[in-house]
Amino acid sequence: MASELEPEVQAIDRSLLECSAEETAGKWLQATDLTREVYQHLAHYVPKIYCRGPNPFPQKEDMLAQHILLGPMEWYLCGEDPGFGFSKLEQANKPSHLCGRVFKVGEPTYSCRDCAVDPTCVLCMECFLGSVHRDHRYRMTTSGGGGFCDCGDTEAWKEGPYCQKHELNTSEIEEEEDPLVHLSEDMIARAYNIFAIMFRYAVEILTWEKEDELPADLEMVENSDTYYCMLFNDEVHTYEQVIYTLQKAVNCTQKEAIGFATTVDRDGRRSVRYGDFQYCEQAKSVIVRSTSRQTKPLKVQVMHSSIVAHQNFGLKLLSWLGNIIGYSDGLRRILCQVGLQEGPDGENYSLVDRLMLSDSKLWKGARSVYHQLFMSSLLMDLKYKKLFAVRFAKNYQQLQRDFMEDDHERAVSVTALSVQFFTAPTLARMLITEENLMTIIIKTFMDHLRHRDAQGRFQFERYTALQAFKFRRVQSLILDLKYVLISKPTEWSDELRQKFLEGFDAFLELLKCMQGMDPITRQVGQHIEMEPEWEAAFTLQMKLTHIISMMQDWCALDEKVLIEAYKKCLAVLMQCHSGFTDGEQPITLSICGHSVETIRYCVSQEKVSIHLPVSRLLAGLHALLSKSEVAYKFPELLPLSELSPPMLIEHPLRCLVLCAQVHAGMWRRNGFSLVNQEQYQNHNVKCRREMFDKDIVMLQTGVSMMDPNHFLMIMLSRFELYQIFSTPDYGTRFSSEVTHKDVVQQNNTLIEEMLYLIIMLVGERFSPGVGLVNAADEIKREIIHQLSIRPMAHSELVKSLPEDENKETGMESVIEAVAHFKKPGLTGRGMYELKPECAKEFNLYFYHFSRAEQSKAEEAQRKLKRQNREDTALPPPVLPPFCPLFESLVNILQSDVMLCIMGTILQWAVEHNGYAWSESMLQRVLHLIGMALREEKQHLENVAEGHVVTFTFSQKISRPGEAPNNSPSILAMLETLQNAPYLEVHKDMIRWILKTFNAIKKVRESSSTSPVAETGGGAIMEENSRDKDKAERKRKAEIARLRREKIMAQMSEMQRHFIDENRELFQQTLDLDASPSAVFDHSPVASDMTLTALGPAQTRVPEQRQFITCILCQEEQEVKVESRAMVLAAFIQRSTVLSKNRSKFIQDPEKYDPLFTHPDLSCGTHTGSCGHIMHAHCWQRYFDSVQAKEQRRQQRLRLHTSYDVENGEFLCPLCECLSNTVIPLLLPPRNIFNSRLNFSEQPNLTQWIRTISQQIKALQVLKKEYTNIDTVSSKNLENMDKLQLPEGFRPDFRPKNPYSESIREMLTTFGTATYKVGLKVHPNEEDPRVPIMCWGSCAYTIQSTERILSDEDKPLFGPLPCRLDDCLRSLTRFAAAHWTVASLPVVQGHFCKLFASLVPDENHGDLPCILDIDMFHLLVGLVLAFPALQCQDFSGTSLGTGDLHIFHLVTMAHIVQILLTSCTGENGMDQENPVGEEELAVLDLYKTLHQYTGSALKETPSAWHLWRSVRAGITPFLKCSALFFHYLNGVPSPSEVQVIGTSHFEHLCNYLSLPSNLICLFQENSEIMNSLIESWCHNNEVKRYLEGERDAISYPRESNKLIDLPEDYSSLINQASNFSCPKSGGDKSRAPTLCLVCGTLLCSQSYCCQTELEGEDVGACTAHTYSCGSGVGIFLRVRECQVLFLAGKTKGCFYAPPYLDDYGETDQGLRRGNPLHLCTERFKKIQKLWQQHSITEEIGHAQEANQTLVGIDWQHL
Ligand SMILES: [Zn+2]
Ligand SMILES: [Zn+2]
Ligand SMILES: [Zn+2]
Ligand SMILES: [Zn+2]
Ligand SMILES: [Zn+2]
Ligand SMILES: [Zn+2]
Ligand SMILES: [Zn+2]
Repeated sequence: MASELEPEVQAIDRSLLECSAEETAGKWLQATDLTREVYQHLAHYVPKIYCRGPNPFPQKEDMLAQHILLGPMEWYLCGEDPGFGFSKLEQANKPSHLCGRVFKVGEPTYSCRDCAVDPTCVLCMECFLGSVHRDHRYRMTTSGGGGFCDCGDTEAWKEGPYCQKHELNTSEIEEEEDPLVHLSEDMIARAYNIFAIMFRYAVEILTWEKEDELPADLEMVENSDTYYCMLFNDEVHTYEQVIYTLQKAVNCTQKEAIGFATTVDRDGRRSVRYGDFQYCEQAKSVIVRSTSRQTKPLKVQVMHSSIVAHQNFGLKLLSWLGNIIGYSDGLRRILCQVGLQEGPDGENYSLVDRLMLSDSKLWKGARSVYHQLFMSSLLMDLKYKKLFAVRFAKNYQQLQRDFMEDDHERAVSVTALSVQFFTAPTLARMLITEENLMTIIIKTFMDHLRHRDAQGRFQFERYTALQAFKFRRVQSLILDLKYVLISKPTEWSDELRQKFLEGFDAFLELLKCMQGMDPITRQVGQHIEMEPEWEAAFTLQMKLTHIISMMQDWCALDEKVLIEAYKKCLAVLMQCHSGFTDGEQPITLSICGHSVETIRYCVSQEKVSIHLPVSRLLAGLHALLSKSEVAYKFPELLPLSELSPPMLIEHPLRCLVLCAQVHAGMWRRNGFSLVNQEQYQNHNVKCRREMFDKDIVMLQTGVSMMDPNHFLMIMLSRFELYQIFSTPDYGTRFSSEVTHKDVVQQNNTLIEEMLYLIIMLVGERFSPGVGLVNAADEIKREIIHQLSIRPMAHSELVKSLPEDENKETGMESVIEAVAHFKKPGLTGRGMYELKPECAKEFNLYFYHFSRAEQSKAEEAQRKLKRQNREDTALPPPVLPPFCPLFESLVNILQSDVMLCIMGTILQWAVEHNGYAWSESMLQRVLHLIGMALREEKQHLENVAEGHVVTFTFSQKISRPGEAPNNSPSILAMLETLQNAPYLEVHKDMIRWILKTFNAIKKVRESSSTSPVAETGGGAIMEENSRDKDKAERKRKAEIARLRREKIMAQMSEMQRHFIDENRELFQQTLDLDASPSAVFDHSPVASDMTLTALGPAQTRVPEQRQFITCILCQEEQEVKVESRAMVLAAFIQRSTVLSKNRSKFIQDPEKYDPLFTHPDLSCGTHTGSCGHIMHAHCWQRYFDSVQAKEQRRQQRLRLHTSYDVENGEFLCPLCECLSNTVIPLLLPPRNIFNSRLNFSEQPNLTQWIRTISQQIKALQVLKKEYTNIDTVSSKNLENMDKLQLPEGFRPDFRPKNPYSESIREMLTTFGTATYKVGLKVHPNEEDPRVPIMCWGSCAYTIQSTERILSDEDKPLFGPLPCRLDDCLRSLTRFAAAHWTVASLPVVQGHFCKLFASLVPDENHGDLPCILDIDMFHLLVGLVLAFPALQCQDFSGTSLGTGDLHIFHLVTMAHIVQILLTSCTGENGMDQENPVGEEELAVLDLYKTLHQYTGSALKETPSAWHLWRSVRAGITPFLKCSALFFHYLNGVPSPSEVQVIGTSHFEHLCNYLSLPSNLICLFQENSEIMNSLIESWCHNNEVKRYLEGERDAISYPRESNKLIDLPEDYSSLINQASNFSCPKSGGDKSRAPTLCLVCGTLLCSQSYCCQTELEGEDVGACTAHTYSCGSGVGIFLRVRECQVLFLAGKTKGCFYAPPYLDDYGETDQGLRRGNPLHLCTERFKKIQKLWQQHSITEEIGHAQEANQTLVGIDWQHL
């Protein structure tokens, strides 16, 4: 096989390079048949340049193409060297005022909510920043690619169409000048010629469909037959399928297959094999075979290589044309002209047409290239944009048909260009009038929805997956229609009217197909077998919602159109209802002497449909008519006489009754789908506006035009309640029928629903046209009712309000009037709260409340009233008046049938008989009475002089019922009910009604326009006096209740407080302000005593006995050396938080030697704890059970947990904090050993160093002997004799371990865990590095604590949270005790080596120089290893003496270190005399150093500066040391250091037993120090450093911070959109992710950047955490605006980003597009989590709280 392949890279044909562009162009200029010449040239050269082997070489191809193919064209075009020619063109050009920048995927785009004509008008970042809109309300989104900047398009912006850069020079507003005037005649001619040929060539070859044969004029003479097996993209197969198939078919590696698949996905095609026909055909058949099983196979073609070559060049050519026209608007116009020139074959044959019409056949890459060319040419030239738009409209139907067959996304289809024309108002208008675009779009849409039932309605019932797919695609047509309608005409021409109405007709046809679709019949007996498909119908309805609204908006703009449209709509509705009576017999209904004829129809028995778009549209138009001027002036012009009110109300009423019956549970057997439909129709914000709301309007229309008694009777009949209210004693009879409890319940609900409906009909007057309100009133009312439920964030509020077609809710303009904004804190979001004065507008029966919302709102409002000490009645609010057309509607309240219904229900309530009655029923009746009284009061107030108020509700309710039933008056019944004990809740409301009644009566009496009924008056007076009495009692009861409530509130507050506090304690990380730590530590033992933390002078503190309760068994126990171990749950992790060198990490952990820590602190081991203590054995038992449970669980189901049991992880049994080991709790370990001897005289530093050196030497000799013991055993004893053991040194002594068995075990456990995690190795308790890791973790944890305290300006010994205090104490004491369980010689060995780094001996040659040692780590190591040596020393030197000398020695080494590295610069800052003692001393020391370094050290800086540098440099070390010795020895801290304040340097020195003039240390010990300093300075590395050959860390080390983030989030988006994947050559990254620790941008969540880590494929982020954060990472996912925490491969969580919008909310996923700004406090919080090593803990808590996080494949991010 391999032999058939050509060599990978072919040498460049020399003849190609000799070809001269100038000569070729010259030949062309002479040519008579230019086309032939050029084609011959291309035929000859293109296959020689392109497609010469299996792998593309784009750079080489491009280079040759430029030289041989494009070069001549440029010469020809310019007629001279294009280098000059193009720049001349550019200079002569008057640049367009359009920006036209084509957006890349992920690039930020901006739209102005104030000025953009519609939301599709956007600006690029550069234009936006230079525009006026940056100070307006704007929206920011990330582009999906395609589309361009609209800067300069005057039609796109109401204001500020130009940015500064594209600003039109006011002087040159010459209208639409022809850009060709800037070009010479010759140039125009040449451009024509060459553009025509090249454009045609490109179109021809790209649309060429033969695989094996070239167009005749491109055939070559010499034809080498090589082929490509070309794989094409589809949207059916997944990445994985393609990769798998390719590996099989063309025998490639997985990596190659991924490469192929990625290219296919991006470009739409990629050759996967190259060779002879057979060879390619074979691969093709394998691919087709293996992908055809379930779906249609992948598209593969075997193509001749020269065809591919020409096609590649064709694409190149199109891009080239795009570039060339960028030089000159004249050239652009010529190209447009060429493109749209009609061909010889008739009008469909312009080149542009041909490309468009083959769009669906082209591969993705080709499409995007020519779309781009269209955008930069046709769409940038206003004249041709128009012509192009016409072509597009003419081809519209065909293009949509093609798109429907195509399986690519719309974004890569030419149909997506519609947004470019349709949203331009003048173009859209032109297309409507000249091309009848509206009608075309709607008809095309109808063509694609063919499934109809017998009545011609759409039918989605049993449609297939393929139809569903098409249905989704066809929805884009609705989008096009929306674009066309989005900008409304400012003036109407007759043509526009005519074409719009034609379109309206088509639209009515569409709605007609929806009217009554998906009808349902109530299921009785059996439950339905299958849930019917209902979503499709609702999807259609939802998509059309905005269209329907916009159609109405258009109609509203022109009265002629409105009236015509109204007539048309009515006619269509009549057609729909032609079979309306359905043969049902008419029946007669009569109540209270009124009677009406209607039909017999039962919703519960016959077919009913929720979809009534035609009725609803008519309702909308009716409201518009009512608003219009005609309605006032010439109502006779309206087509109202044609209306038949009973017909209008019939279907909406049925639909509402259906909903009521669903609530009453009558349709349960029809399944959930119906419940969902009811939800959508009534409550979904996207639907209800054009569904439920319009049904209400339609009923209101009907009522206002008919006798309300008739209406009510029909309504009763449709609700199937007619019987109940028409039979006088039905209630009583009914209650005796105990058998049908369900029926009674059902009827109760139906009555409630019906009353609710009446309330809505009268009360919902906030649609403009129905009531005298405007749009702002409507939105205000929505907001008031939303906020009546609870305070809401901006986004929640937006979600609950309907958006218009511009995605606006209109909320911002009114929100201030009704709500207060409460800013967010560190967590949570900003909230809007209802203004108290708006509460009176609250309507309990607001029609958009769901049942749940209603009861929540009721509760909230009553609570509010109680808090304000008001009565709890929620009376109906005062309403705006109706518009004249609807005015008569209010009469329904005082109609006889209504009064009869009210009376009946009140009667039931008075009789209070069983369950044939409900409180909600009564509540609604009371509400209705309230509404009627309000109405009457308003009428009275507004009545014009001399008019009689016809609304006389108050009189009617005072009248008792007539014979035969003789019921009491409604008023009388209310008075009775007022005292009913079972109606406590409603009393306030009844009282309100009676009060209002009296007020009305008074008004009536005073005006005496009409006599008031007599009855009841006296009773009410009486009532009033009785009232007072009762009111007093009630007031007292109220006070008592309030007191009770207050106490309850206090208690629950305390409870909540407790929980909050503990949550803080448990979950929140170590907040340093939080609860103070254990008391005994800070109680000043002796305030006036100087406290000393170490050395022989160490302050002795009386032993505190410590009693601890185990969290698991609750038993209390004292901490003692010999008792059972108590342990703290702890979490050990590696850390790079303090790292000064992130590129460094442990290469080979098995060989790594951790003894010396480099001052760059590149990798440390941090220990944290939640501070919860338990018995070691209790913990053991707990952990075993966790382990066992986990094993069982894993066997059962492959579930993950937030912790990794196999790695020793568990959750703290109390607070669920992630832990991976335990630390034993110990007493100060030094005290145990110190009591051994009585020290009288202690050696000074010099003596001590000598003794130690001798002891070390002795040990080393012994060790040598020991290792040689087998070979030369005889000599051994001899040497032993020679060895002079220092006095009192007994190397054979083995101390007894004082700890109990259980404590020893825990010492080993924790030590091993530290070793395992810190080095990432398998646990091995024998490893000599175990003690080093323990000391290291102690040192590192103290250092990181000190950093946090300093960064936050906290005092060193201020109140620390318990958990941190306990952790540090246990950790330090543990580390000090660990040597007792380690091997003594090993620890001694470590001590010797550490000691040798400062006091050199001959046995330790290559130790790091003092520049490369972190002195605090060294100190901790030396101090903690020292007991291993000291325990064999019986000479009387105490441990304390050793500690002190070690500390002094290391301190001096650190001072030298600082002087060498950190005192440069600021020479000139010399301070005047007098010079202090310290300064003189340090100067002296510096001079010594200068001398020892052979004058390599810089000349003496000022003494003042030196001392300042030393002090600053050493302070962190001293602070760490103070913490260390404090926890080690348990000496209380000096009170001065417990508070924040000025420098505590002196106090620190005192506490640490140091002279405050540190340099004295050198002077006191000059004897030995001079030689030591000399040895330090003579080191080679020190020399290299001083000579500038290497770097060193300087002091004090600065704290690490997270990177700086920009204030404006869009600059991050912009940065990320410019970022391309580092691995796949210039491709845009799909998920650019920013490391917040180091600022690296990564290509996350993508195949291209996966790498292998420890044998597994991981994504870029996980890989990065290993190098940057030793496993822990903090990232910002830029596209998602989301923070990502990662720990290891399996742990991760998302965290709220530190960016907030103006409403105090984050926007994760960037869905809302409000401008986002950095919230510094929140970012600091994230930084603190990181600095405190709490990221892993945070992930643990997040995963415990949200189990779905556990299942995410974090490692692939
Ligand atoms: Zn722009
Ligand atoms: Zn601009
Ligand atoms: Zn603006
Ligand atoms: Zn216990
Ligand atoms: Zn805990
Ligand atoms: Zn990548
Ligand atoms: Zn990083």
